[in-house]
Amino acid sequence: MKLLFERSKPGRRAALVPPCDVPEVPFDASMLRGAAPRLPEIAEVDLGRHYTELMKQTHGVNDGFYPLGSCTMKYNPRVDEEAAALPGFTDIHPLQPVSTVQGCLGVMHDIDLALREVCGMDATTLQPAAGAHGEYTGLLLIRAWLQDRGETGRDKIIVPDTAHGTNPASATMAGFTVISIDSNEDGGVDLDALREAVGPDTAGLMLTNPNTLGLFDPNILEITRIVHEAGGLCYYDGANLNAVMGRVRPGDMGFDCVHINLHKTFATPHGGGGPGSGPVLCKEFLARYLPGPLVVEQDGAYAFETPAKSIGQVRGFYGNFLVVVRALTYIRTIGGDGMPLTSANAVLNANYLLHKLRDRYAVPFPDSCMHEFVMDIGPLKDKTGASAMDVAKRMLDFGVHPPTMYFPLIVHEALMVEPTETESRETLDGFVDMMETILAEAEEDGARLHDAPFDCAIGRPDEVTAARKPHLRYDFEA
Ligand SMILES: *Cc1c(COP(=O)(O)O)cnc(C)c1O
Repeated sequence: MKLLFERSKPGRRAALVPPCDVPEVPFDASMLRGAAPRLPEIAEVDLGRHYTELMKQTHGVNDGFYPLGSCTMKYNPRVDEEAAALPGFTDIHPLQPVSTVQGCLGVMHDIDLALREVCGMDATTLQPAAGAHGEYTGLLLIRAWLQDRGETGRDKIIVPDTAHGTNPASATMAGFTVISIDSNEDGGVDLDALREAVGPDTAGLMLTNPNTLGLFDPNILEITRIVHEAGGLCYYDGANLNAVMGRVRPGDMGFDCVHINLHKTFATPHGGGGPGSGPVLCKEFLARYLPGPLVVEQDGAYAFETPAKSIGQVRGFYGNFLVVVRALTYIRTIGGDGMPLTSANAVLNANYLLHKLRDRYAVPFPDSCMHEFVMDIGPLKDKTGASAMDVAKRMLDFGVHPPTMYFPLIVHEALMVEPTETESRETLDGFVDMMETILAEAEEDGARLHDAPFDCAIGRPDEVTAARKPHLRYDFEA
């Protein structure tokens, strides 16, 4: 398709600037540019069509099924958007006096209490802008606590080999050394490996439960006990909270600190690089290190306060506030009763697909799962030549966004399926039918799938080069 610069015609405009109604003030010549900026000139109708054409080449939750494991790409109710668009939330400035934005502080205060309840924790910061940012913030809290106690020799963070890639990355960024431990044959933490890994240099453990195989670790209380007895703290990666919210709480599993992905579990569309929010919650003994300002209630009004030993701000102002508004709207809409139903449906949908597919495709942990499960395309590849990549690319022709691929790393041809609670039985059955069609195609002619997708605008871009050496600048001279 044509770029805006290629559609440009001199003199075309998409905007009418109102006449100047204030006295003109000439600029100092040294502040003026020598030539007009090279901007595309285009009429509003063509501009609209350009972006509509671009939009049609992408896939979102509103287009079709999007079972991207670990990402929780669920449909987010429109009412959350309506709340976030209210002028009282959008037409404000972060430096306004708090007496004029009490309602906004009230939102932050209310979600703080709601998230504490969901997580079994005592305090919250809403500052981190994403899950990984929350991990980093939580680890800084742990580091501050260790330093306060003079335990600077504790510099190792233990991370299971199924962990999301952000876990070791955040631990490293926060100044720790990562110790990776193997999973046991059930896909959980190997307790012997954990006992061997802990010691006087243990700062803590990072864990997501259910893990990225979609398995809830039945030894979780023993796991957090082993780490605590060794003098370390336990950090819960709450990105998979959609599977357990309203049912079990990280605080009750023995964790000291947790981040939540509001953009996965509590509304806010994500995946397009839009703003996210990764609040961090902790137990009382870590609260004095939280980034400030926090909202507190004082003499019948809300105010900001920074904890005594705060690690400092991790982001400007108060975090991505409108994401918080969506999350509170979502929580209020489904309510305390809706939360366990939501997680139950997420788990039910995943198990439905698991049970429909496990006889046709290899599934390393086939008995049951939480909100997601991992298929192994390895055996199919050995038999027919069709890889996880080929199967995933073929899904695009059916209007389905492929599952997460080649992750977790311990399953080599992994497809990680997370249907979420918002999909209907018909959509799930459609996915099963599609998987059977693709299986039949692979068995008939596996090599043909190397060319999939057959009907998409873009087929097989060189993804590594696109990520490592993106070419983002339009070449005017060429
Ligand atoms: C998504 C995810 C993260 C990271 O969250 P971001 O908001 O993408 O930074 C961390 N852990 C798990 C298990 C995740 O699924």
